[in-house]
Amino acid sequence: MKVKYFIYCRKSSESEDKQILSLPAQERELKTYAKEHDLDVVDVISESKSAFKMGREGYSDMLARIIKGEANGILCWHANRLSRNAVDAGYVIYALDQKQLLEIKTQGRTYYNTPNDKFLLGLELGISKKDSDEKSENVKRGNREKFLTRKEWIGLAKMGYVNYIEPYTKVKKIVVDKERLPLLQRAVKLLLTGAYTPMEVLDKLNNEWGFRTRKTKKMGAKPMCASGFYKFLSDPYYYGLMVRSEGEVWGHHQTIITKAEFDRIQIMLGRHGRHSFTKHEFPYRGVLRCGGCGAAITSEHKWQIICPECKTKFNRGQTTIQCPSCKTFVDQMKNYKLLHYVYFHCTKRAHPDCTERSITIEKLEEQIDNELKRFEVSESFKDWAIAHLNELNDKEVDDRETVRTNYKEAYDDCVKKLDNLFRMKISPQNVNGDVIGEDQYIQERKTLLAEKEDLLAKVNDTNKRMNDWYDLTEKTFNFACYARYWFANGDLRTKTSILSTLGSNLILKDKKLLIDGHKPFFLIEKCLSSIKAEVPEFEPAKNIDFTSQMYSLPAIASHLLGD
Ligand SMILES: [Zn+2]
Ligand SMILES: [Zn+2]
Repeated sequence: MKVKYFIYCRKSSESEDKQILSLPAQERELKTYAKEHDLDVVDVISESKSAFKMGREGYSDMLARIIKGEANGILCWHANRLSRNAVDAGYVIYALDQKQLLEIKTQGRTYYNTPNDKFLLGLELGISKKDSDEKSENVKRGNREKFLTRKEWIGLAKMGYVNYIEPYTKVKKIVVDKERLPLLQRAVKLLLTGAYTPMEVLDKLNNEWGFRTRKTKKMGAKPMCASGFYKFLSDPYYYGLMVRSEGEVWGHHQTIITKAEFDRIQIMLGRHGRHSFTKHEFPYRGVLRCGGCGAAITSEHKWQIICPECKTKFNRGQTTIQCPSCKTFVDQMKNYKLLHYVYFHCTKRAHPDCTERSITIEKLEEQIDNELKRFEVSESFKDWAIAHLNELNDKEVDDRETVRTNYKEAYDDCVKKLDNLFRMKISPQNVNGDVIGEDQYIQERKTLLAEKEDLLAKVNDTNKRMNDWYDLTEKTFNFACYARYWFANGDLRTKTSILSTLGSNLILKDKKLLIDGHKPFFLIEKCLSSIKAEVPEFEPAKNIDFTSQMYSLPAIASHLLGD
């Protein structure tokens, strides 16, 4: 028999419930558990009452529904959520006896209708025991919540930070170790200059700047050891990313390096660095296609080192730890030159022998910028154009409305004709086909149906054209005005969305970006060039006063109306 569950959550305001997860957290944990174990959940019941007193509404309601047969299992965070008084406990065990309830599931264990389980359940329900291992299990789950949703580091603070308990509220916190974090930051900056090896920086840290680890009961107050230093240098916590077995989250703590600096340091660490580089964002993902074979275009990060000893240039792959010619280890090099490139190339998934070559991000972005430049307009031109187009738009809407009404009337007329034709066909006078013959009927009906179809399309098309108007004015001009600025100054997401606005399947062929010019902003380009032909000194990308009527509006209008 398939078990159906109620999820039951409870938290009271009493002090002994302090360690218990909040109601939303209980719900979330249990829902996740149910999903992971493929449990059939009928309903979720949450209440914030103490279980010591009887008469919890949600609880009695749930039992009543179990007796009715709506569900035959309960999923809760801990058995002590169900009951802490003898009567409630009795009900639950009775329901198990009667087989109205088949199981009670918690994340730790499942209680069935066996003498053993019922005994244990009775014990757990009846006694509000606070044994320590239960508490620690609760704490563990509470920690997960603290880490994932509140984004706070748990447990012992990392080097450079200290655990701190607020004296009045007793809230535990992690704060900056004002003595050590600045020294660690200074060490990182020194290493980033490239003039020192990691071991030389460590020597300075310990022996010149007097770094000592924090004193604890058992140890501490010692110079930093090499392995501790390497561990520190390859810990993403220092650029903000907190990594634990529960997952990865960005913390709110004070950081001392950027992600890019962190990546550079990983390369410097050579043999001692993390084996994998940090995850990189892939720019313009999903927007570009290969013009040679149609496969997707992907990007790749590449680092190259120029060896300071022998000037050999070599790729710094994940396993390269020394110069291929003079065998100097990367972590012993000083003042080497580090080059970082981002390439775009065909994934060759469809055709492994595709011959399209790769292109650097700089070359690609230059081309995109050139495209955006084609229809760039200034803010004052944009405002002027939108204002004037809105005036034209009002007139356009009126005209279109008239056209639409005409089509609609013609359409209604056509429907009426079809109706009449049919009446004529089935009228008593037409028994012998005297009024209208079969062939004639079929012919006329066919003509009218085609006409009806055509008129309907025209009505719909007119509606669409009226809606297109808005897009063509405000949105298009805003894009034309701001896209180039944001492409140069925005983050990766902004840049990607600008590129995908230009077209969703842009082609990269022979290192050239091909853009289909059907998008409305290219209408702006056309209209700009026609104005320029008339008024040579016209500069659409400069903020000048366009309110004077010197520029010919009809030129813009005729292009933008799209006729
Ligand atoms: Zn290709
Ligand atoms: Zn070398």
